[in-house]
Amino acid sequence: MITADDCIRYCAMEFYCPHCETKLSPCEVPPFHIGDGLGWGTEVFFVCLNDECPPFVKGWAHIEAQFGHVGSYRYMRLPNETKGDTMMVGNKMAFTGSILDPDAILAANTRHQQERAWVEEFDQSVIDKNTAPALGVLVDAKANKNHRKAACDILLKIGDISSYDAAASLTDLNPETENKVNILKKELLKKNFMRECPDCAEIVKAKASVCKHCKKTLA
Ligand SMILES: [Zn+2]
Ligand SMILES: [Zn+2]
Repeated sequence: MITADDCIRYCAMEFYCPHCETKLSPCEVPPFHIGDGLGWGTEVFFVCLNDECPPFVKGWAHIEAQFGHVGSYRYMRLPNETKGDTMMVGNKMAFTGSILDPDAILAANTRHQQERAWVEEFDQSVIDKNTAPALGVLVDAKANKNHRKAACDILLKIGDISSYDAAASLTDLNPETENKVNILKKELLKKNFMRECPDCAEIVKAKASVCKHCKKTLA
């Protein structure tokens, strides 16, 4: 995966298709190279993704007649070469999934840095009884699985019942994380002398005889 800085640099480069004048799209190269067996020599190349581009329009019939299979040609050039070439594509969608998106890469980068900063604060957050770093990691669906599990341990050490709702609202967890979150919820209740109402699932005092939410009598 290319870095955010490289992505921005590539996206600032302007190359145009000699066949249709369309601005070429920077795309991440596929992990393999058909042909000479050498690498691409670059992590990004620039492709004309205009479906009206003449080599692309004419290519279908040409490849069908020449090779008897479905395909066409897209114009492409490498960033470090002065002239490009056409390359064969098997379908219309080829390369469209690998177009560089600086916003997406920047967002992924920012998220990753935030996660790392939170994890670094874990030890201190226990001393400060600050649930924010561990909660931040726990509710981030993209966070590392082990970091999320560690966040459960931190929240348990802090023991603040206010973490309960965030833990209870999590969905689509993998089984390992889910198990950890369930332990966290159970232990948080115990530590705070609370329990879940069997009727409405709201949190009530362990000693309460009536649920303050649904008014049912508690055993
Ligand atoms: Zn073109
Ligand atoms: Zn209730």
